[in-house]
Amino acid sequence: MEVDEQADGAGIMKQRLDQMLSKLRAHDFRLTPQRLAVLKVLAVSEGHPTVERIYETVRGEFPTTSIATIYKTVNLLKQLDEVLELGFPDGSNRYDGNKPYPHPHVICTQCQKIIDPNVGGLEELTKEIIKETGFQILNHRVDFFGMCRECKTRKS
Ligand SMILES: [Zn+2]
Ligand SMILES: [Zn+2]
Repeated sequence: MEVDEQADGAGIMKQRLDQMLSKLRAHDFRLTPQRLAVLKVLAVSEGHPTVERIYETVRGEFPTTSIATIYKTVNLLKQLDEVLELGFPDGSNRYDGNKPYPHPHVICTQCQKIIDPNVGGLEELTKEIIKETGFQILNHRVDFFGMCRECKTRKS
């Protein structure tokens, strides 16, 4: 069955937002309009934003927002396992609040956009790794680096 992600995008976003909100409510989190705006950006996590990117987006709506508010909200969500943090050797962190669990990523080395490929096979691979190494696997990080369609077109 094919799911049309574009058509259902708003519904998925609402669902993620509701999940985040109920988790935060359970932790007595004071929800300000600014913080709600941060959650909305993270529920979609278009391109896997940086804190700076989230800050720019939220500031468009709430000009008095401080970057500390963004960091605080992101860190709390991280503690609650409601956002996935992707760290990179250059020190930049990217966030995915739409899928807050380990999953493979495809990263464009030209424009730095990060997308979630809709692929299977990782479960099988994990099973093989457990069999081969005897490890209890707790987490994984799978990144594919390359050039996205737009950047490829621009280069040719
Ligand atoms: Zn690109
Ligand atoms: Zn992702």
